[in-house]
Amino acid sequence: MHTKLEGLSILGYARANRSERASPAVNPATGAELEPKYFAATPQDVETAAQLAAKAFKQYRSWTPKQRAALLRRIADFFEAGASAIIERANQETALAVPRLQGETARTCGQLRLFATLLEAEWWQDARIDHGDPARKPVPKPDVRSMLIALGPVAVFSSSNFPLAFSVAGGDTASALAAGCPVIVKPHQGHPGTSELVGLVITQAARECSAPDGIFSMLYGPGREVGVALVKHPLVKAVGFTGSRAGGRALMDAAAARPEPIPVYAEMGSINPVFFLPRALEASPETLAAGLHASVTLGVGQFCTNPGLVFVEAGPAAEKFLQKLEALIAGTPAGTMLTASICSEYYAGLEKFSHVPGVRRAGEPSARANASGASARTALFVTDADTFLKQPSLMDEVFGPSTLVVRCRSHAEMVTAAGHLDGQLTATVHGAPEDLAANSDLLAILETKVGRLLCNGFPTGVEVCHAMMHGGPYPATADGRSTSVGTRAITRFLRPICYQNFPEAALPDALKDSNPLGLWRLVDGHLGKH
Ligand code: NAP
Repeated sequence: MHTKLEGLSILGYARANRSERASPAVNPATGAELEPKYFAATPQDVETAAQLAAKAFKQYRSWTPKQRAALLRRIADFFEAGASAIIERANQETALAVPRLQGETARTCGQLRLFATLLEAEWWQDARIDHGDPARKPVPKPDVRSMLIALGPVAVFSSSNFPLAFSVAGGDTASALAAGCPVIVKPHQGHPGTSELVGLVITQAARECSAPDGIFSMLYGPGREVGVALVKHPLVKAVGFTGSRAGGRALMDAAAARPEPIPVYAEMGSINPVFFLPRALEASPETLAAGLHASVTLGVGQFCTNPGLVFVEAGPAAEKFLQKLEALIAGTPAGTMLTASICSEYYAGLEKFSHVPGVRRAGEPSARANASGASARTALFVTDADTFLKQPSLMDEVFGPSTLVVRCRSHAEMVTAAGHLDGQLTATVHGAPEDLAANSDLLAILETKVGRLLCNGFPTGVEVCHAMMHGGPYPATADGRSTSVGTRAITRFLRPICYQNFPEAALPDALKDSNPLGLWRLVDGHLGKH
C-alpha cells in the first residue's frame, strides 16, 4: 500500500498542487504537530473535482449493480491490507485506542461489503410495474413502471468522532457509491493523514476496477470555504454530513439557497434520553447506574448516541442510583478528546450547565489537565423536571462524557418532559413488563421524537444492518425520513424515475416484462420475482 503522505487533495486519479495555505495535523494527546502539512484546496480544485465527478457520473450511473459491488469489495480489501498504517495514523491523530480503531476497521469494511451484498440482491431498486389497460373505461389505463436511479455527485463531510467508519470510506461514501453516485469528500481536519491514507485506498480500488476518473475526489481545507463551495457547486446533487448542529444547519441553508436546491442529509446533535421506569429502577438501581456510566464514558463520550439526558422518578431507588453514579463518575480518569477545540466546546457546555439555577453539578469540577488541552473529565448534573421544562438550553448537546439526570415527581411529569424533547436519534426505556404496560403514553410520545427506541439497553453502539435506523426528526438530523447507517442509507442518494407507455425494448432491464435480472418486483400490486 502507498503510505507516503503528501498533504495534497485528491482530484480523481491526480493530486492537487500545493496551495498558499497549509496546516498540520495535531496529536491531541501531546499537542505535537504531525507531518506533513495539509494544503487547502483552491477554488480551481473544487471546480476540477466537480467537473470530474459529473463526467464520471455519466459512465458510473450505468455500471451494473454487480460492477459497483465489486468496487465496494475492492475498497474493503485494500482497506484491510493497509489497516495497520491507517490505524497507526488514526491513533496518533485522534487518541482513539488501537482496539477501538480495529473495531472501526472491521465495521468500515463490513459496511462496504454489506452494501455490495445489497447491490447483488437488487431489491433496493424498488422496481414497480403497473400494466396498462387500453380498454379501461372511462379512460384507458397507461402502462406505468418505476425504479430508483442515482442522483449525481455527492459531497460527503466526514465526521471527527469515527475517523474510519463515518469518515472517508464510511457509511455516506459507501451508500453513495453503491447508489451509483461519485463522491467528493471534505475530510475532517482532525484526522487529515488518516483521510489521505483511506482516500488513496479508494483511488487504488477505483483504478483496479477501471472506474471512471473522478468517481472519487477529496478536498482539504476549511469547511466554511472549501466545504461551502462544494455544496454550492451546481454539479453537486446531494450532501452527506456528520457533525455539529451549527455546521449541519449552515450547509442545509447553503443548499436551500442555491438556484437549484439539493438535499442535505446532516446528522447533527442528539442527547439520547434514557428513561428509568420505577420497577426496573427499584429492582437494580446500582446495576443501571453502572450501565449508564459505561455508556456515558465510552470513547470519552464522543458518540452521537451518547446518553446526555436521564429521567428517573424521585424516591429511594433514584437516590441509590444517583449515589452509585456519582461515585463511579468521581472515580473516572480523564480521557483525551479528539481535538483541543472539541474539548474546549465540551468545557464551555459544562460551564453553561453549571450556571443554570436549579441545576447541581455532582462532585467537584476538576481542572483541565494535559498540556495539549484535549483532556476531559466526566461530569454529572442533577436537576428537577420544573427546571428542565423552564430551561430549553438544557436540551443542548454537550458533546463529551457528561450527562444530566432529571428527577421527576411523578409519571405525569416524566411524560410532560418527554413531550418537550427535541428530535433525537434515540430514546431508551428501562422497564419491567409492567412498567412498559403502564407507560404506553410515554412510548407513544417517544415514537414521535426519535429514530430508534431501545428497551433495557444503552444507546451507544449502532449495529450496521438492513433494519437499522440511525437518524431522527430535526434537529437530530436534517431529514428524519432517512438513516445514515444500514442499507436503507442508499435511498438518500437515489430518486424514482417513471416510464409511461415505453415499449419493452426501450425499457431498462429492471422494468422489462421478461425480468432478465430476476428481480423482486411489485407487479400489478403483487410482490414477487416476476
Ligand atoms: P463540526 O464543527 O460541525 O465540523 C464537521 C465538518 O463540517 C468539518 O469538516 C467542518 O469543517 C465542517 N463545517 C463546520 N461548520 C461549517 C460551516 N459553517 N460551513 C461549512 N462547513 C462547516 O463538527 P466537529 O468538528 O466534528 O465537532 C465539533 C462539535 O460538533 C462537537 O463539539 C460536537 O458538539 C459536535 N459533534 C456532534 C456529533 C454527533 O454525532 N452528534 C459528532 C461530531 C461532532 P472545518 O473543520 O474545516 O471547519
